[in-house]
Amino acid sequence: MKIYRGTEASPGIAIGPAFVLDMQKIEAVKRRIAPSEIPEEQERFRNAVESVEMELARLIDELPPELKEHDSMLRSHIMILKDKMLYDATLTNIQERLINAEWAMKKALSNIKKVFSSIKDSYIRERYQDIRQVAQKVFTVLAGSSSLRDLGNLEKPVIVVARDLTPADTIRMSTEKVMALVTELGSRTSHTAILARSIGIPAVVGVDNITEHILTEDPIIVDGFKGRILVSPEEQTIETYRRKQKKYLKYRIEVIHQSNLPAETRDGYRLKIKANIELLEEIPTVIRHGAEGIGLFRTEYLFLAQKKLLTEEQLFQAYKTVAERIHPYPVTIRTLDIGGDKFLSHLSKHNEQNPALGLRAIRLCLQETELFRNQLRAILRASAFGEVNIIFPLISGKAEIVQVKEFLEQLKDELRSQGIPYNENIRIGIMIEVPTTIMIADILAKEVDFFSIGTNDLIQYSLAIDRGNDAVNHLYEPLHPGILRMIASVTEDAHNSGIEVAMCGEMAGEPLYIPFLLGIGLDELSMNVQAIPKIKRMVRESYREECVRFARNILELTSVPEIQEAAAEFFRQNYRDEIAILDQEEVNEPQL
Ligand code: PEP
Ligand code: MG
Repeated sequence: MKIYRGTEASPGIAIGPAFVLDMQKIEAVKRRIAPSEIPEEQERFRNAVESVEMELARLIDELPPELKEHDSMLRSHIMILKDKMLYDATLTNIQERLINAEWAMKKALSNIKKVFSSIKDSYIRERYQDIRQVAQKVFTVLAGSSSLRDLGNLEKPVIVVARDLTPADTIRMSTEKVMALVTELGSRTSHTAILARSIGIPAVVGVDNITEHILTEDPIIVDGFKGRILVSPEEQTIETYRRKQKKYLKYRIEVIHQSNLPAETRDGYRLKIKANIELLEEIPTVIRHGAEGIGLFRTEYLFLAQKKLLTEEQLFQAYKTVAERIHPYPVTIRTLDIGGDKFLSHLSKHNEQNPALGLRAIRLCLQETELFRNQLRAILRASAFGEVNIIFPLISGKAEIVQVKEFLEQLKDELRSQGIPYNENIRIGIMIEVPTTIMIADILAKEVDFFSIGTNDLIQYSLAIDRGNDAVNHLYEPLHPGILRMIASVTEDAHNSGIEVAMCGEMAGEPLYIPFLLGIGLDELSMNVQAIPKIKRMVRESYREECVRFARNILELTSVPEIQEAAAEFFRQNYRDEIAILDQEEVNEPQL
């Protein structure tokens, strides 16, 4: 047996065969498509060609002076990309033969091969190799965007092991067949981790080179509590883990059973506990797990699932469904947060050197006004069907909010004059995730109805650590005194200005941080659906007054280890029965 270590990203134990995503084989996958899929498949092919073209153009630009005279080879590759025999033929094959882009291009390529092999001139005949090389580049891009890479076609339950998973891979995977996720890249707040927690499957991320050590069908154990992967375990170890698995399941059933009880402390302090969702399919679980609304609807996943832009009508239908189904509770709909680590091929700029600091979220929406307009109109229209709030991501200052509000007012006027109903008093909020917003919280609070602290990004930007980069993962620390002060300060300023403050970053769903968040008086915590039952139960076991004292105490401490120790001690004393103890202590090292 071999053990590999990574970052625990979603709790639970999985035992089963590995399924290693092998990038090399993807191009060979063939799939028939429905006539309705033709435009999407052709678009995927065009996008792939365009992306290779951009890549080649960039290479030409960056050629060192001594190689400049050889740029004709690269230019000829650009021409091959759009050659009728390859480009037009692939599009026609998709349409007429109803096959996916990879297969359609393979057919075009084999036709070209036939034609070239009959040519007598050996120089020209060998040019086929250039065409094949160019096609290979397109295959590679297609593989990255392929719906065939999606994990929706698995034949039996497996543990997926991959270098990385795109948000699109994860949302399209069959949740019945994927028992757990293991990736080489990523951190606790990267999209793979967030989605694994939403779906409720164990995940370990940031496991160095794991795809080189595991083969498909290898028996493995994923320990999502400790961030361990055990490869080819012995029978005795499997037994130990089966017992842990059962114990955890029993606990889950018990807390979920109590999840409709309110999140009220023993001394009567009431906290709103809501859910973060990515997809509409999560709504039944949201309700079953006792959420009092949706505190963050990450709407970009609708776009990522479809891999295209959605019309106002499609968005309206989705938002209306959420508003109606969560009623009488509210939903906070976030406008598109694309860019950063979530790309949409025809919107995001792939060549940004620092995507997290680039054209992301509200910045992109303010530039792509048609896209923004569709979303805002759809949200406003949905507000006639339930309690809908809007939240804007990655706001950095007052001017942005003013601009957004002006646009919103313009759209309200439009809807009014068209006689389309909406809620005139729709509440608007901003995500607190750019550190400067905390310094000017009093100014921003005058502009909006509420704040929601996005700790995933706030910590990324404040501690200067890329949230997707496993190499700096260890520096991600919610208990950093600077982070705790920021959270306390923005909460106090917002309250002094008379507005509510929520937290919707992953920190809000982690047991260890709950006493502090209760103590500083946050009004709402919004978290991954799976965390709700245990966090509600923790709140019920808490005394607010003690949490207030605890929060004051740790705000005085000066270093991370001191704070960690104080938090762990408070936890041990006050939440003995909690799963967090099971998470952190009882699931001990197996006896190996
Ligand atoms: C956050 O940044 O904390 C957040 C909730 O948003 P996201 O994880 O979608 O960036
Ligand atoms: Mg964010």
